[in-house]
Amino acid sequence: MYDAIIVGAGPAGASAAFWLGEAGKRILVLEKEHLPRYKPCGGGVPKPVFGRFPFDFSPVIEREIGRARFRFRDGREVVTDLPDRPVAMVMRDRFDYHILRHARAEVRDGSPVIALRQDGAGVEVATHSGETFRARYLIGADGANSRVARLVGLRRGKQVGATIEVEVPADDDLLVEYADTALFLLGTPPFGYLWVFPKAEHLSVGIGTFFGKIPAMREILQREMARLGIQVEGAPQRGHPIPIYLRHEPLQQGRVLLAGDAARLVDPLLGEGIRHAVDSGRLAAEAVLADDLPGYTRRVQQEIGADLLWGSRWARLFYNHPEGSFELGVRNPLIIREFLRLLAGQTTYRRMAVRAPLDLLLGLGRRLPLESQVSDSTSLEPGLET
Ligand SMILES: Cc1cc2nc3c(=O)[nH]c(=O)nc-3n(C[C@H](O)[C@H](O)[C@H](O)COP(=O)(O)OP(=O)(O)OC[C@H]3O[C@@H](n4cnc5c(N)ncnc54)[C@H](O)[C@@H]3O)c2cc1C
Repeated sequence: MYDAIIVGAGPAGASAAFWLGEAGKRILVLEKEHLPRYKPCGGGVPKPVFGRFPFDFSPVIEREIGRARFRFRDGREVVTDLPDRPVAMVMRDRFDYHILRHARAEVRDGSPVIALRQDGAGVEVATHSGETFRARYLIGADGANSRVARLVGLRRGKQVGATIEVEVPADDDLLVEYADTALFLLGTPPFGYLWVFPKAEHLSVGIGTFFGKIPAMREILQREMARLGIQVEGAPQRGHPIPIYLRHEPLQQGRVLLAGDAARLVDPLLGEGIRHAVDSGRLAAEAVLADDLPGYTRRVQQEIGADLLWGSRWARLFYNHPEGSFELGVRNPLIIREFLRLLAGQTTYRRMAVRAPLDLLLGLGRRLPLESQVSDSTSLEPGLET
């Protein structure tokens, strides 16, 4: 009999395991894949996330971001410096495993949970190999397609977002160009964006659309990356759902809690979820320690969900009016400064909304200059539309 079983060893599960282990609880982590496992992800993490844990993350930081490029689909581009380098790039296999290795927990990888049963005293789970385990509580941190959520009848709404991610081998020129630079390509696809994030020895590029699937995502990714001189053909292209937070939902059923992507805690504007996975993992651990499971949903909604709902308002505004948002938002030095603070985990969507009317007005007269462009004409592949 464990105190808690955690299903999934991503940042949500590893964070819950860490905090419960620190409190002296007897914890079992069941992970479907063999660890460390690959996870399709941009791997951008606001640095304050590292400060949530009492150990050093420098061994798993691949790059630090000191410059952001915001490029509109027609090639217009704004470049901003981030002097404090507030965002780090990680590879998820190493980052997630780094947290887990600090957790005092028993870990069984290659052990997908396939069944779950609750009674008054605890929860019993069965894995694919036929083993069963029992605990007083269970935390479902099993990601976007959460089996735990389905097994206990939570999270009934349908999946909303879709992504494709590619780790592109990069030559020295590209690595120098993107060494400390994150590029966001805006205005395509509908309701999403493309990104280029630097890792130590390659680029992580991708496309995400957050309010429903769209056709031809692979073609858009290939075409837009080719325009930047980045060839994605030949590298594995991995599709993955992205569970965007669009409404408050119950996250507890009996002795079971959901955390991270399983609880759909992904930012509707940015597609960012690592920070919320880590934070909800801690909140789930606290709920277990306080023996207050019913209070968990409310705490997640207050501390994470409420601001994500503000984020969904920003997302609808931004993605419904990409052209106007680029001219009036991205090129507005006050708005973009707040956005960069948001990216760095230093402000909230709500605070941005309170400031926005004044920022919009004051920034109108001093729009950021457009940068000279990566040459579209030379990097275009034959036959591509402009
Ligand atoms: C393409 C892409 C790019 C992204 N880029 C960023 C970014 O740059 N920054 C950011 O903050 N967020 C990003 N996100 C979001 C981020 O990846 C997720 O929010 C984050 O991984 C959530 O962590 P988690 O622990 O909840 O789930 P996961 O990291 O998905 O971990 C869930 C774990 O559960 C395991 N599992 C699943 N089913 C079972 C089962 N039945 N039994 C046992 N184990 C199981 C899985 O193998 C997995 O290891 C991106 C997402 C995608 C798809």
